[in-house]
Amino acid sequence: MTDTEIYAVRYAHHDGRSEAQNFVGGDLHNGSDPLDFYVWVAKTAQSIIVVDTGFDEAMAKRRSRTILRPVAEGLRTIGIAPDDVSDVVITHLHYDHAGNHDLFPRARFHLQDCEMDYATGRCMCNATLRVPFEAEDVSAMVHKVFADRVTFHDGDGTIAPGVTVHHVGGHSKGLQCVRVETHRGAVVLASDASHLYAHLETGRVFPIVYNAEDVVAGYDKLRQLAASNRHIIPGHDSEVLRRYPAAHPQLAGWVARLDLEPFG
Ligand SMILES: [Zn+2]
Ligand SMILES: [Zn+2]
Repeated sequence: MTDTEIYAVRYAHHDGRSEAQNFVGGDLHNGSDPLDFYVWVAKTAQSIIVVDTGFDEAMAKRRSRTILRPVAEGLRTIGIAPDDVSDVVITHLHYDHAGNHDLFPRARFHLQDCEMDYATGRCMCNATLRVPFEAEDVSAMVHKVFADRVTFHDGDGTIAPGVTVHHVGGHSKGLQCVRVETHRGAVVLASDASHLYAHLETGRVFPIVYNAEDVVAGYDKLRQLAASNRHIIPGHDSEVLRRYPAAHPQLAGWVARLDLEPFG
């Protein structure tokens, strides 16, 4: 399991965000902290595990985001066809993590119990709380439940040898992160448990939040799960592609290898 490879595959971008859009208490007039959008891949000897499914062109238009390269195209650059994917971890059901519903026809999906509860329950009667969700993403997951394609986890769970999920909550009620053992130690794919490196480093909170106390506790949990702070991968930071080597030289700025040591 120590020769497991991990990839970050960037597929979309959102520019021109104010500080207030990325941090509670941020200045409305201050700066621009763009967000990048990723899916991740853990390739072990036995299985190919995709973490999150991103969104497609139609959703990008609806949400005014820019698709750079569709998810399937990014996966193809590292030799992964959708049919090869055995497992998909959905870190949470927000629109940017749970779209492209039909992309992985053979995969088993992994979700926390309380994320499904939250996304199908009374909180979705509230317009503010449902902003990051799309009914079609949630209902696509319900259809997968009825097709026997979903494994639910409650807290910690194992996807494959050396690949585990861990409930974090906070940003969304059932947000989970993914821990992957590699030759350089345990790498943690934080997803939205830390959107940017700055959230983890400064303890600040992203404005879309279910429970701020759990967001802050989540930063400690990420540190406990990872071999070091250099093993935590934020969910939306463009810096990831500068800190880690490209999967191939021609994939710089698109696909990075996270099981290799970061620069600096
Ligand atoms: Zn989210
Ligand atoms: Zn997100």
